[in-house]
Amino acid sequence: MTRYEAVIGLEIHIQIKTAGKAFCRCASDYNAAPNSNICPVCTGAPGALPVLNDEFVKRAVAFCLALGARVNLTSTFDRKNYFYPDMPKNYQITQFFTPIGAEGRLAVTGADGAERDIRIERIHMEEDTAKSAHMGERTLLNFNRAGLPLIEVVSHPDLKSGEEAAQYFKKIYDIAVKYLDICRGNMEEGNLRCDANVSIRPVGSAELFTKAEVKNVNSFAFIAKAIDYEIERQIGIVSSGGAVESETRLWNAKLKRTETMRKKSGRNDYRYFNEPDLGPLHITTEFVEKIGASLPELPDAKRRRLKERFGLNNELLDLFVGYPAVCAYFERAAESYPAGGRTVASWIAGELLRVEDKENFGKVATPPEHIAALAALIDGKKVTGPQAKELFGVMRETGKDPGEITGSDPRFQQMAGGETAAIVAAVVRDNPDAVAKYLGGKDNLLGFFVGQAMKRSQGKADPAEVTALIKKELTNRQK
Ligand SMILES: [Zn+2]
Repeated sequence: MTRYEAVIGLEIHIQIKTAGKAFCRCASDYNAAPNSNICPVCTGAPGALPVLNDEFVKRAVAFCLALGARVNLTSTFDRKNYFYPDMPKNYQITQFFTPIGAEGRLAVTGADGAERDIRIERIHMEEDTAKSAHMGERTLLNFNRAGLPLIEVVSHPDLKSGEEAAQYFKKIYDIAVKYLDICRGNMEEGNLRCDANVSIRPVGSAELFTKAEVKNVNSFAFIAKAIDYEIERQIGIVSSGGAVESETRLWNAKLKRTETMRKKSGRNDYRYFNEPDLGPLHITTEFVEKIGASLPELPDAKRRRLKERFGLNNELLDLFVGYPAVCAYFERAAESYPAGGRTVASWIAGELLRVEDKENFGKVATPPEHIAALAALIDGKKVTGPQAKELFGVMRETGKDPGEITGSDPRFQQMAGGETAAIVAAVVRDNPDAVAKYLGGKDNLLGFFVGQAMKRSQGKADPAEVTALIKKELTNRQK
């Protein structure tokens, strides 16, 4: 039986956050009263002339550099001609012949665990269309969205699965929203929109089969499912002797399947030509370098650095790379306790984020230096696990440094060795049945004894010490 592999390319549209629109000075607030932020330019009145927003250019250049793309010092604005009610001038201004950016790359981790670069073919600037809402027989149009600045990123068909596509999309989201802050990132409002081109071919073949386009997979939850469904659907068709049709499909989240939206007949001819009202865009090397110098550290570089410096596992790396604000907090804490980076990281991931929201990680009451001091107490075995959790609660209530709290509060005094031994002896004495079973071979009862002793010590005993003492006590009985 022939085995097939998937060939997937993504086209992602990103709405860029600027005060004005791409080619006019209307406010970019899409949520204002419908059709209140409009003018002759963005509604396509005859004779109105577009003027390029330079903030849009700066953000597009920053985005190209963040994706490792070449920035073209001369790019062109071009007209894409088509007729649709959401575009009354009957063309969209886009960059067709020479886009602002080309040849970028972004790493994904494949199913085999190895990192692989996904090549980015082009990055171009264009304008959004009006938003249409269909109500029965009628269509309502909101021109607040018309003319909003958009960047489109087109990847090469280098992705192999729905999971890889989701990773790539998430990374584009993180860079645009969390690292560069050039997009508001509201997926429900369509600030980021993703279309996937999916086809299959026999494993190892260079031939490309007919592809289907799955439109508007604008959710991290759905993108992998929609693409994987589509791959299976195409394999099913080809395996039973059929042929995949060229069409645009939509993901039906309720029925968990893709469905035909429209068949494609021949190639669309948009009759592209240079936009005569704008002319080519010229930028200088200095302009590009200045923007490059202002970029923050980007996800791939951050991941490599954190891994090398602190030896963090993938789960912690995903957390810190995906949430730059949490990462900044971690790095400040680790700075004041450099040897304990891993303890600090695990404590932030496990305990701090139980009470703080990583999505809105801004004003954290506990200073990072206090978390570092707590980690040092844990590593130095000055407090036990249960004590550390309780101590953290007091730190949050009082805002005090953990050293200050442990110095004065008897709850956090370490139990002396002799006292722990007495508790262990009492636990063994009081549970003769369990002792007999343990000695009869029920090794898993060790946890029961440790639990009992920790309970009696009210969490003040060191669990490692308790475990060792219990083993010793029980072994002595065996003799
Ligand atoms: Zn306008």
